[in-house]
Order: sequence, then C-alpha cells, then structure tokens
Amino acid sequence: MKKIVIYLFTWTVLFSCHKNEEPVTREKETNPNTSPALAAVNEKEIPAGKKIRALVGAMLIDGKGGEPISDACVLIDGNTISDVGKNGDIPIPPEADIVDVKGLYLLPGLIDAHFHLDGSKELPYHFLQHGVTSLRDPGAWIEAYAGERASGYALPRLFLTGPHLDMPPPAYPLNALLVRDVEEARLQVNRMADQGASAIKIYFRVSLQLIREICAVAHQRGLPVTAHLEIVKAKDAILAGVDGIEHVTSFGTDLIPEPEAEKYRQAVLADNNARREGRYAVWNTIDVNAAETDSLINFLVDQQTFLCPTLGAFEYRMEKGKEDSVKVNGFKNMMSFVGKAQEAGVSVVVGSHSIVPYAPWGWSFHHEMELLVESGMSPAEVIVAATMENARFFRIADRLGSIEKGKQADLILLKANPLNDMSAMRQIHSVMLNGVWVSDTIAMEP
Ligand SMILES: [Zn+2]
Repeated sequence: MKKIVIYLFTWTVLFSCHKNEEPVTREKETNPNTSPALAAVNEKEIPAGKKIRALVGAMLIDGKGGEPISDACVLIDGNTISDVGKNGDIPIPPEADIVDVKGLYLLPGLIDAHFHLDGSKELPYHFLQHGVTSLRDPGAWIEAYAGERASGYALPRLFLTGPHLDMPPPAYPLNALLVRDVEEARLQVNRMADQGASAIKIYFRVSLQLIREICAVAHQRGLPVTAHLEIVKAKDAILAGVDGIEHVTSFGTDLIPEPEAEKYRQAVLADNNARREGRYAVWNTIDVNAAETDSLINFLVDQQTFLCPTLGAFEYRMEKGKEDSVKVNGFKNMMSFVGKAQEAGVSVVVGSHSIVPYAPWGWSFHHEMELLVESGMSPAEVIVAATMENARFFRIADRLGSIEKGKQADLILLKANPLNDMSAMRQIHSVMLNGVWVSDTIAMEP
C-alpha cells in the first residue's frame, strides 16, 4: 500500500520569480560555481530537513566521477551536506542522529533533463520515489504543474522552461508559444524568465534568425537554451548560441549528404509528422565512422554543447511484428553516435522523456541510463551524466549534482552496486530531498 507523504504547503509563493537584472555574458559557462543560481519553481514549497544526521557505512559514489569511498560518513545539517569523508575521519557532533547505512550505496539524487507530464498524474511523485530529485520539463506551461504542486505529494525540484518556442504551424499547439518575429521572440523569452523559467526551449520550426535572438535574450537573463531540431542544423543552431541539444535525432541533417538533408528539411517543413518515419530513414544511412561525424563531434566538444539523447524515445528493436530493419538500424546508429560522442568528450546528460516504449511506467530514467551503458558508456560515466553533468546543464552545480560539503542534501541509497551493473539503479532503498527522507517504502524516520 502506498503511503502518501503529505506536505503542508505555504501558498504565499506560487511561482518563484526569477529576476536577473545584471546582464550575463553570452559565453558558455565553464565554471559551475560562477553560474547564476536558477531556481526550481517549487523551491520554496519543498520542506527542509532540520536534524543533524550522520549517514555511516555506505559506499559513497559522489556524482563527480571520484573514486568510490567504502565505509563513508556523510554529515547532513538540516538541508545541507556539512561534511563528507571516510568513516572515522570526520568528527560526528554528539547531537547527530547516527543512521547505519552499511551495505548500501549512497549517490546524489538523479536529475532528469527531459521530463514530460504527458497527462500522467503523479508521475513526478513516482520519479521522486525512484530517485529523481530534480527534473526539467522542456516544454510545458508553468501552470501545467499547478495540479501536481497542489496534490500534497512530495515532488522533485521542478525546473521548467514554459512552453517551447515554435513557429506556425506548431507540432504541439497546446505546449507551444508561437514566435513569428524578433519582437515576439524577445517578448516571450522575457515573459518566461519573469514567470520563473530556468531554461528556454526552442522547437524545430523556429528559424535560425530567431534562434539567435532567443539565445541572446535568454543569455542576458542568465538562462541556458536547449533545442529540439529537425529543420535547422545543430551546428548552425549552436553557433547561434544554443547550449544544449535535445534528442540525438536533432543531429540528423548535419550528418547526411546535403541533397538528402534538404529533402528531409522540406518534408518536415511541409508536414511536421514527416519527422516520425523520416528520422529513422535518415539515421539508417548515417555513417557513424565518417569524417563528417568526427568533425561534428569535435565541434560539440569545442563548443561544450550538452547532448541529451533521449534514446528511450526512439528505441526500436527487432522482434515479432516489428521487423522494420530501417528503424532497427537507425536506432543502432543513434546509440553508436552517442557512445562515440561521449568518448570524444561531449557532455552527454540523461533525459528520460517520461513515457517510452521499452520502460515500465515510472522507470524511463533508469532505462535511459541502461541504454547509455549499451551505447558504450561505463556505469560510472552514466552516473556522472545523470547527476553532475545535468547539474552543470541546468546551471545548478554550485548547490546540487554531487555529494560534497556545502551542497543541498538530495541523495539516494541503493541496495546494490550500480558501478557493477546499471540495473542496480532500480534497487532504490530510500530517497532524501532537501535533507528530508521522502521514500514511501522504507520509512527512515517517523
Ligand atoms: Zn520532449
């Protein structure tokens, strides 16, 4: 039986208002500590821990790719990690609650870069139960989360972008904010920033000129920009200022011969839905080992572009009734590209896409982590992608994304070692958000 965690909300603050008066440089952030602190819309609704706790005996996996520490001690003071080290090396204050977590694996809370509500009630709550302590929805009205926020369920930190910016005719009218010219583009980015957006999302019909304008205004407001592309090439969008690319498929037209790329662009311009089958045809023909692929990957490394592949959204396997070899091969090439990009130094991050064909409901984030391992990343690298890299992508790495002194206490305990087998990420023992245990299954405090 599911035990509901009831939160007492204070409704004085519905939307945390992000106002960044000082113009921020357009340069890509390299030092996370200098990034503006972007807030989750429900930041002030999340209860903060009040106790001093020492979590003792777990194997610590820090989220930054550091050597795991066996028999670790993590001190938590309220909602903040106040010390981290080997058990016995750090002083435990006498008033601390000592929590024996021997035999467990302690990781930072997971961060999902690509979450959609998809009409699925309580999904954010279930993601939190499964270890996702922060998520970003790249394309929903901030108001769309009002129901979840009023539900009384514990929720992850909700980083929202507002609707995605698109040009007519939009692929998803209900989740789109149309921009038709420079004026509208400037206006809508500022509006979203005023309403608490912590990033801006560009959708695929937006012209290159408007992409440039959107990025300029967003960067002035301190917001990163991420894009789903079909028509504009990723390389052009990145040169225009885009910080992150959603979906591996967004690189399709960069990687095929020009006449084929133009054919695809025109097909999608004529009909948004041409992308659905068309993208597999494109990826079926991509040569992942071609010089053009290497050159694009090197460009992404140079530009420090974040790549959120959402492989789970495109997964297609040969099975009975699904013998489409174009799709099977297209998907294989998508995975190879991601593995190769990460190995070359591209900053790959994890985005679940919420509901995907091959993951049980509520487990798509973990499934995506497994797909990234299948693409060639090590479990240790995928854990960094799911925590610290996403914190850098969100520009919240100064306070989240790793288990380090001074960071906020969002963490998870697992029953098995994910460094040996990524599927251990599904073995959730308990979840802490902002210094408070929020797990239903194992109550670690009354
Ligand atoms: Zn999406």
